[in-house]
This record gives sequence, C-alpha cells and structure tokens, in this order.
Amino acid sequence: MKLFAMLLSQFDLKMFHEAEGFFKVALNIDNSEIPIEVKLVDNIGKGSTGGRCGPVFTDDSTFDNLKIEKISIKIKHSCTVIGMIEALAHEMVHAKQYIDKDITVSFERYYFWGFIPRIKARKFWKGQDTTDLDYYDQPCEMEAYLLQKKLTFDYLNIVQKNLDPLAMAKLLHTQTESNID
Ligand SMILES: [Zn+2]
Repeated sequence: MKLFAMLLSQFDLKMFHEAEGFFKVALNIDNSEIPIEVKLVDNIGKGSTGGRCGPVFTDDSTFDNLKIEKISIKIKHSCTVIGMIEALAHEMVHAKQYIDKDITVSFERYYFWGFIPRIKARKFWKGQDTTDLDYYDQPCEMEAYLLQKKLTFDYLNIVQKNLDPLAMAKLLHTQTESNID
C-alpha cells in the first residue's frame, strides 16, 4: 500500500471510531447498560446494504422471555469514510430504538405445510406490529433516515473545526474522486 493511501486509511479509521463515540453521546446511549458492538465487515448480504443493526439475545433467552445481551452493528468497509460514517449514524439510531424499546421483536413457531417447523420474527414499533410494512414505510427507518443526515453533518462540522484544513481538503477531494467510480 502506498504511504499516502495507508495514512489516509488510518485517518479514516480514526475518524470512524471517533464518530462512534460522538453518535453515542449525541443519541444519549453512551451510558446504556446494553453494550453496542460495532464491526467493520467486507460484505453484508448480496445487495448494496451499507450497514445492519440487530439485537443479540442471551443464551438463556426463551421466546417468552427475550433478554438482549448486546446490540450488534455491522458496517460495510468498502464505502467511502463519509458513507461509512453516515451508515453508522443510521445504525446507531436503530441501536437507540432497541435500547429505548421503541423497537421490540417477538418470535413464534409455526408449521409450514402443517408439519415443517419454522420460526417467524415479528417486529413492533411502540407496540404496533410493523412486520408486514414495506421497508421505507417502517417508522424506525423513517426516523433513522431523518436523523442520519443531521448526526453526520454535526459530526463532520466538529471534525472540520478541529482539523488542519489542508488535510480536510485532501480528504474531501479523495472522497469526490472515489465517488465517481
Ligand atoms: Zn435502517
């Protein structure tokens, strides 16, 4: 890896991890009893998904008694750093929704064709069953899309004020270039 590219990727990672701390404070989930685990991954599914967030339940959880052990967030590594930060902001909003119990889930057993056992997950928003709503009609998604821009803008604004403008200009230039691909 070329030196500049290496420095840039270290810079990107630092910025990403600082954003993680910033978003937790901004969303008031930095002191949550439920830990939030953020991982950078190479791929999420097959589509163009940039991030994913979901609860991980304790081993002794049962369908009638679900206990969240941690919230797991995955962010796709191949996005630009701004894209990664915005994806992180979006998933952090979901983490808050799980922590505040705005989103709850339940599982139920059913039998496909009357004999093949299956498990169906149901998703609720403030008590309302939203399982069958389209993605963009989900209230949790509307809130996440609404807040992700503001969170990202606030963070970048702060970063910009503390940074050497030349380094920032170089970063933004690289972002613009890599977006053209
Ligand atoms: Zn979402």
